[in-house]
Amino acid sequence: DFLARAVPGVQKLSPYVPGKPVDELARELNLDPAGIVKLASNENPLGPSPKALEAIRTELAELTRYPDGNGFELKSRLAARCGVSVAQVTLGNGSNDILDLVARAWLAPGLNAVFSQYAFAVYPIATQAVGAQGKAVPAQAHGHDLQAMLAAIDGNTRVVFIANPNNPTGTWFGPDALESFLGRVPQDVLVVLDEAYIEYAEGDELPDGLDYLARYPNLIVSRTFSKAYGLASLRVGYALSSPQVADVLNRVRQPFNVNSLALSAACAALDDADYLAESRRGNDAGMAQLEAGFAALGLSWIPSKGNFIAVDFARDAAPINQALLQEGVIVRPVGGYGMPTFLRVSIGTQAENARFLDVLGQVLARG
Ligand code: PMP
Repeated sequence: DFLARAVPGVQKLSPYVPGKPVDELARELNLDPAGIVKLASNENPLGPSPKALEAIRTELAELTRYPDGNGFELKSRLAARCGVSVAQVTLGNGSNDILDLVARAWLAPGLNAVFSQYAFAVYPIATQAVGAQGKAVPAQAHGHDLQAMLAAIDGNTRVVFIANPNNPTGTWFGPDALESFLGRVPQDVLVVLDEAYIEYAEGDELPDGLDYLARYPNLIVSRTFSKAYGLASLRVGYALSSPQVADVLNRVRQPFNVNSLALSAACAALDDADYLAESRRGNDAGMAQLEAGFAALGLSWIPSKGNFIAVDFARDAAPINQALLQEGVIVRPVGGYGMPTFLRVSIGTQAENARFLDVLGQVLARG
């Protein structure tokens, strides 16, 4: 029994269930993939930046050699952009890789990580995969209860995962809450501030994790090119931390964890300010469009600062999800997160949002 012999903690895991791929549903429904709307994985509906695509084409000329294992160019640009030194940047194969590196470096059987109820599914996966215990703290109005999370920290806690904004709820906390949290977390407990969606919320009432790095050497800010930068398939994310923490992450990091196409595309994407601004504008407009549509259908939702929104049907949402799939609309069920009455919908293009709302209206009218 190889499951029984796996690292303790693996037995209680179930595999991460991603949004259904477009091609898979197209095959099932015998439909052209172009007829499918996928609003399930918080992807950027704009497609990648043309600058990133161009960088990838150039990079295709050299696929035989290993990529730069230190990612020097991308790290230098990120350091300049974020106002930190290169020694404070760690690159990951997506920001999921960063979460994994943290778990591998600091967690083990007998130790634990604290995170919130309704937090991102990879926190328990990364934690339990190394035999450590995950402590899920009850949420408050679907958001992080930072006070309760502080209280959950014990002598065996090595890591706290917090996300701002959070996925799948879209909830967020402000600068005062973060400051008071960081000020009270024991200095030898690492705090991973997961800012996968921060580009959508910049300038809003959310704190910028970078402002806290100098004062909190136990802080790790993780970010990604998968969302607002539109490069989810390339798998590139990064952590910003004290140099000492970055040194530890780099000791457990796989050599060449970020491929050359991803490195080049990420550099180019960082330079494309217009693309980022357009992503943000489209997201704001799409969020307003979905909220208006939900209001018209008499539905409630959790206000979100991400590129997705959790809508509440006040009854089991699984049949609604099934009916949407039958019509070629893929959204994300969040029953696995303990939110069985909700569906999480990523913000799409105006046309995708309209199609989703239209189909949803028909599904609900059927009862
Ligand atoms: N953190 C959060 C909160 C997320 O929602 C996601 C993507 N679903 C990630 C991290 C990981 O994204 P990636 O590995 O693509 O950077």
